[in-house]
Amino acid sequence: MKRILLIATGGTIASQRSMQGLKPLITSDELLSYVPQAQKFCQTETLQLLNIDSTNMQPSHWLMIASAIRSHYRSYDGFVVCHGTDTMAYTAAALSYLIQDSPKPVVITGAQKPIDMEITDAKTNLLDSLLFASCDRASGVTIVFDGKVIAGTRGKKERTKSYNAFSSINFPYIATIQDQHILFYLDNPKPQNTQMHFYDRLNERVALLKLIPSLKAGVLDYLAEYYDAVIIESFGVGGLPSYDSGDFHKAIKQWINVGKTVVMTTQVTNEGSNMSVYEVGQSIKQEFGLLEAYDMTLEATVTKLMWILGQTNDPSEIQKLFYQTINRDILYTATWRNSSDCGEFETTSGCQADL
Ligand code: ASP
Repeated sequence: MKRILLIATGGTIASQRSMQGLKPLITSDELLSYVPQAQKFCQTETLQLLNIDSTNMQPSHWLMIASAIRSHYRSYDGFVVCHGTDTMAYTAAALSYLIQDSPKPVVITGAQKPIDMEITDAKTNLLDSLLFASCDRASGVTIVFDGKVIAGTRGKKERTKSYNAFSSINFPYIATIQDQHILFYLDNPKPQNTQMHFYDRLNERVALLKLIPSLKAGVLDYLAEYYDAVIIESFGVGGLPSYDSGDFHKAIKQWINVGKTVVMTTQVTNEGSNMSVYEVGQSIKQEFGLLEAYDMTLEATVTKLMWILGQTNDPSEIQKLFYQTINRDILYTATWRNSSDCGEFETTSGCQADL
């Protein structure tokens, strides 16, 4: 029988009503007691690591979770992390970078309703997660929620209240789970033990700037005082405003001149960026060699940068790591170098014809 470690960190799944609103109070042992059916397929032990609303989750907590998994790695066949839904996609992405190529599954789950309520998604989500963590074909970091198995770098909370809160962005579901049957939609080849890596450093100095019509570029100068990298969430496939006598251009130049990292992404959830399409994107990307998130989720982009900047400050190494596919996070980095030869693509993941 598979041995699973259930790591509880709080969230709605573990919450109870209080005068101040829902707050995490249910313990890891109590969570497990709500799914006695799991004893049929796994032997589970529990670890109460935190008991917080995931609004309070920080990079130091991601390191704590990864470190707990590392120190118990040999003793268990799989891990289930119970977590609040609000920042679950960030934690799943962060763990994808901190625990790479794990042959054992690390499953993150939570719920929209507390597990002690009569009508709740919590029991199904927890039971499905234990089932998936016990599956021979499962590996790596995933989210299991509402019957879907989502790559850890592809999850996004898209609904605040419904049970189907999470979607897999720009990538198919790995599997679905119905009535305790797992249906794999994708091959999930198990990495070898020798390939796996734990990391224990993150650089939190990563900021996000969401463009709105009229935003002043001075915000970028302000951010430069506190952050080593900025992700600019631009409109559509991507570009930067040229109004105000090119102030954005000047601000970006300043960031690059002092060796800081600028990543362009889009505020549109689906289909990703492509800065080469419009003049407002192409010229600035070419001039400064800005990084581009393409099909990565924002959650993956943020945590990947924190992981990369925890390892290196070297711009070419940052670029290399950023475009390296980790736990299925980025596929769309192909750019034509030679339009007559598909072999000249920068990656092997797709074919793209620029307009
Ligand atoms: N605020 C809660 C949390 O993220 C919401 C949830 O778990 O669904 O911890």
